[in-house]
Amino acid sequence: MKRSCIQCDEPLYGRSDQRFCSTSCRSHYHNHKREIENKTFYAAHKHLITNYKMLTKILEQHPHIASINQLVRFGFVASKITEIELEGPNARPLFYLYDIGYRYLDQKHIEVFKCSKDRSWHSNRQLRPDWFDSLQKAPL
Ligand SMILES: [Zn+2]
Repeated sequence: MKRSCIQCDEPLYGRSDQRFCSTSCRSHYHNHKREIENKTFYAAHKHLITNYKMLTKILEQHPHIASINQLVRFGFVASKITEIELEGPNARPLFYLYDIGYRYLDQKHIEVFKCSKDRSWHSNRQLRPDWFDSLQKAPL
């Protein structure tokens, strides 16, 4: 079976497990692959960073309450969070971005809070089966 370089399609004559014709092709292939991965991660991270910075600003003012519409207008993307948790018997969601959290006070306002240091970040809290129902009832 004729084999060829997966980067430039030149025929390969070396070992059976050879994938590239040259070091240059190998580097080019892996650099390009890494570049695509970085772009993918960066797009998501960019939103998290933007959201985090905006919530940090709200924590600098009193009260720590903001209009969600205004935040969205300035680039806040509500779906970009690092964690979600349910609070209390009515299971209202708490949204987290790393060490900052927020909850909806009503349909238009959020209250932002800084997490305590002893909070377990990877708590494998069991979510109830009606978790998605409660999320849909939350004002967004
Ligand atoms: Zn090649």
